[in-house]
Amino acid sequence: MSKLLKSVIDRNPGESEFHQAVEEVYETVEAVIKKNPKYQKAKLFERMTEPERLISFRVTWVDDKGEVQVNKGYRVQMNSAIGPYKGGLRFHPSVNPSILKFLAFEQIFKNALTGLPMGGGKGGSDFNPKGKSDGEVMRFCQAFMSELSKHIGHRLDVPAGDIGVGGREIGYMFGAYKKIQNEFTGVLTGKGQGWGGSLIRPEATGYGLIYFAQNMLAESNDSFKGKTCLVSGSGNVAQFAMKKLCILGAKPVTASDSSGYIYDADGISQEKLEYIMELKNEKRGRIKEYADKYSSAEYFETDKSSDHNPLWAHEADCAFPCATQNEIRSKDAENLVKGGVKLLAEGANMPTTSDAIEILLDGGVSYAPGKASNAGGVGTSGLEMVQNYSGIYWTREEVDTKLRAIMKDIHDSCLHAAKEYGMEGNYQAGANIAGFVKVADAMLAQGII
Ligand code: NDP
Repeated sequence: MSKLLKSVIDRNPGESEFHQAVEEVYETVEAVIKKNPKYQKAKLFERMTEPERLISFRVTWVDDKGEVQVNKGYRVQMNSAIGPYKGGLRFHPSVNPSILKFLAFEQIFKNALTGLPMGGGKGGSDFNPKGKSDGEVMRFCQAFMSELSKHIGHRLDVPAGDIGVGGREIGYMFGAYKKIQNEFTGVLTGKGQGWGGSLIRPEATGYGLIYFAQNMLAESNDSFKGKTCLVSGSGNVAQFAMKKLCILGAKPVTASDSSGYIYDADGISQEKLEYIMELKNEKRGRIKEYADKYSSAEYFETDKSSDHNPLWAHEADCAFPCATQNEIRSKDAENLVKGGVKLLAEGANMPTTSDAIEILLDGGVSYAPGKASNAGGVGTSGLEMVQNYSGIYWTREEVDTKLRAIMKDIHDSCLHAAKEYGMEGNYQAGANIAGFVKVADAMLAQGII
């Protein structure tokens, strides 16, 4: 292991997810750093791996039984070289500084790839919205924002949603911010339509993912028509990825949540998808219920002790992990190759382990890392910020056209950067290099700060 990488790991003990994300980027940008002594001299990689600011705070609220609850709250302001900090908030019991630092680090490069002026950040809480009443979620969001509001602002740091934070949570947090600061500004993205939200923002990560994959397929004059696709997750990203797949004539056959997954050999049609959306977004139910409703589907419970997830062992052409980090491990990657998958694009952040990525690449799978393929969400958040700054709304078609253009540009700049450094066709290397160079040059220009 290089001295530089070792020093980052030693400085952040026990933060395995953060180490994994840093290593993954370093392996592909090492050649760029070595070729440019100015980057080395200014210690740019070392600076990029240290958050500009890491805010940790207590969130205290009262549940429906009148009991006091205490949670941890965080915001990682990772890098502001090219714009205000930007990145989602995650509410999930697993949230800790390592996970948020990995996400904030990834976000630096992702945001740079969109071509929009956005720095990298991420935040959240170990609060679990699952099983909580609307009133409890609202009181938690208000308590969370009573502290977070001191550290964010529409020109400083603009959070959005992530796991466990959808339209409902953004609404409660926006209301709390407005009340505390006594101003109506675009301090959060993913807002509702009619109060500052952009059309297409809810769809953007899933749609953008499929637009990115469409560009990958077009490289070999291929399309989605008739392709069988494995999708994990059943939340925001998975839902709209499946919707776009259906629109483009592909057949998604799986969906999951943390309890298990369903396999529907007939395909998850748009009509069945509407059922999933209602089940997950309105009734807040479990994916198991899909198999009770549709006899064409089978349900498989998650075996947490297993080293693989059978979801990835079904035969298919394409795979889209859209749930969470490290959900595709070595054995899953082997199964994907065996099952005939030729394209894997990440909807989730870092869903594929480093060993699994190697197996996919060796197996001839065209692999797109999340920081490129799921950047449509933050790209459209950037478009929401532009609309808020200028006080206008674009139509659905206008936003969708811009989203398609952003995804095409990211796709092309990944391929271009990979080619420049002798790694033709490698989206992972291209995404890291293109994102790194943009932020590194901005940091160099701004001096030692
Ligand atoms: P949601 O909360 O809407 O959905 C998350 C989905 O993943 C749910 O089906 C959830 O199941 C499942 N899931 C969560 N944690 C686990 C786990 N530990 N094991 C198995 N399944 C799990 O989140 P999003 O769809 O917004 O986010 C999904 C992924 O996409 C995340 O990695 C996120 O960082 C990434 N992403 C999201 C963006 C966005 O705009 N929302 C933008 C870019 C990336 P359950 O209901 O059981 O928890």
